[in-house]
Amino acid sequence: MTSSRPEVRVTEVGTRDGFQAEREFIPTAVKAEVIDALIAAGLTHIEATSFVSPKAVPQLADAAEVIALLRRRADAHLAALAPNARGAERALAAGVDEIVVFVSASESHNRANLNAPIAQSLANVGEVNEVVAGRAPIRGAVACAFGCPFEGEVAVDAVLRIVDTYANLGFRTLTLGDTTGMATPPTVARLVRAIGERFPSIATALHFHNTRGIGLANVVIGLELGIREFESSIAGLGGCPFAPGATGNVCTEDLVYLLEESGYDTGVDLAALIGVAKRVEALIGRPLPGQVMKAGPRLRKYTLDDARRAVG
Ligand code: ZN
Repeated sequence: MTSSRPEVRVTEVGTRDGFQAEREFIPTAVKAEVIDALIAAGLTHIEATSFVSPKAVPQLADAAEVIALLRRRADAHLAALAPNARGAERALAAGVDEIVVFVSASESHNRANLNAPIAQSLANVGEVNEVVAGRAPIRGAVACAFGCPFEGEVAVDAVLRIVDTYANLGFRTLTLGDTTGMATPPTVARLVRAIGERFPSIATALHFHNTRGIGLANVVIGLELGIREFESSIAGLGGCPFAPGATGNVCTEDLVYLLEESGYDTGVDLAALIGVAKRVEALIGRPLPGQVMKAGPRLRKYTLDDARRAVG
């Protein structure tokens, strides 16, 4: 596609970050259909699943099968989380394009989420790197980068220490995760600037949750600071099963709407994406937080009869 508008990458994480929080098992074929529909709508980067222990997250026990079932596999760059060397082997065997490792910037959250101190998780990341041995790029993610539900404020230095390990391992891409929706415009500005100064060659993506309603405001700050990749989940699915009160990610179709209306090119077909969001809402069986999927595009027109019915 040729366009004079600046490109912004929207990475879909709903089938990983969103589905992992769902108690009722979503059939494997349905997971694959959702990913295929997202790719068909124009999303080229998908964090599809997580190769965690099936005991820890039964919902994602079918990670390899989901990837094997995809029809539009060749049209997208597929990433998957791998919390340890065994997970990384399974992810590589399944043929993912990128491995994502993560460590929490908060000691308490890391223990709650990964059942290990940060130092041990960083050692695990080193093991994953050895197992992968250059067969796929590795993205380093930092959970709770903007605050921790157990400890409160997270120091910029705590994030920098983790990114430093990632940089020393040669990782080129980073995700700063706002796991429980504690980021604010000033905290985003402070951390993005600190990372940019210290690690200018690392490409940073921002992953916000809309827990307190300012996920897209944080995106706008990220854009102003030059960030060109954001992670989001279809219909606003998501949360963190280990963080109390954590609600959904920034919603993909709302994010695409914001970006396109602000003059950026996402390559995504918003109408098709809204269709996928509605299907996902029906699949999950409860109202999901996405707003553009309810209101439609900005220039959607109503008839006067619609208006009369509405006041009726
Ligand atoms: Zn998340």
